[in-house]
Amino acid sequence: IERIAVLTSGGDAPGMNACIRSVVRTGIYHGAQMFGVMQGYQGLINDEIIPLNSKSVSNIVQRGGTILKTARCLEFKTPEGRKKAYDNLVKHEIDGLVVIGGDGSFTGAEILSREYDIKVIGVPGTIDNDLFGTDFTIGFDTANNTVIEAIDKIRDTAASHDRLFFVEVMGRDAGYIALWSAIGGGAEAVLIPEKETSVDDLVDKLMVDLGNLKTSSIVVVAEGEHGGGAMAIAEKVKERFNYDTKVSILGHFQRGGSPTSFDRVLASRLGQAAVEALLKGHNRKMAGMISNHVALTSIDLAIKNKTEMDETLIELVNILAI
Ligand code: ATP
Repeated sequence: IERIAVLTSGGDAPGMNACIRSVVRTGIYHGAQMFGVMQGYQGLINDEIIPLNSKSVSNIVQRGGTILKTARCLEFKTPEGRKKAYDNLVKHEIDGLVVIGGDGSFTGAEILSREYDIKVIGVPGTIDNDLFGTDFTIGFDTANNTVIEAIDKIRDTAASHDRLFFVEVMGRDAGYIALWSAIGGGAEAVLIPEKETSVDDLVDKLMVDLGNLKTSSIVVVAEGEHGGGAMAIAEKVKERFNYDTKVSILGHFQRGGSPTSFDRVLASRLGQAAVEALLKGHNRKMAGMISNHVALTSIDLAIKNKTEMDETLIELVNILAI
């Protein structure tokens, strides 16, 4: 392996830039030629492949988003699209590819490298923290920090007006951001896809809080939760419960912002690990972090397996909300 390209694909996440920087500089450090692919797989198909040097990635470790941009690319799901992508890799004599993204992006990488002579390594970059083979994904910590900052502010107004707030957070069909921000933000309850909570149980819990003279409450709702999201839940609760109720859907600002120290270090370590894995001849692996050690997991397993939600965290929300 002498010529390595890096791309970001799927949803953007804070820390992707820190990872790109680490991939590029680790490659250069080991004597490889480095390239960046714009717009994820779309750029591979359109031949938007640019040489990157050490200077190309200066002053980005602190920036959110991704300088390489990201895209969802339907054409890459077709054999014809992947043929074009491979032809462009051959044209630039690229023999290794680092894909920073989520499970969809890894599936694309896996298929490409089974069809053609190209080695691929995935790096988990998504705020959702829903990938098997790593304790944390790049962007998750920053998103949590953004959410708890919002919850803290919502708490001020909720307390001043004696209100019940439903705060909807991202995570697609995973409840990690909801659970972590509920603990970190001191929420009274959390609704996540991994554990169904009935409206009855939620109302009971809120009634108990009222009985305990709590005058304001925050319920964190994961967007993928089964009750239909914060709006729908709030409507159902309102019918049962005479309380000034508000809904706040945090939305896309959860995806932006300067990455936390944790995400920068995670991104830097995984970027280094991905390049060094390629240089050692690994293929179709994901570089993740397990118990604070870099671990390579086959992409196949990373895609097929689901991470288990830690029940003790759910219990902790309830314990701390008495
Ligand atoms: P996130 O979790 O942040 O959404 P993701 O990587 O899972 O990230 P997707 O939109 O699922 O995001 O996938 C990103 C891109 O990967 C797709 O737009 C497509 O180009 C490619 N991809 C996804 N699934 C496949 C597949 N089955 N075959 C080929 N390419 C795929």
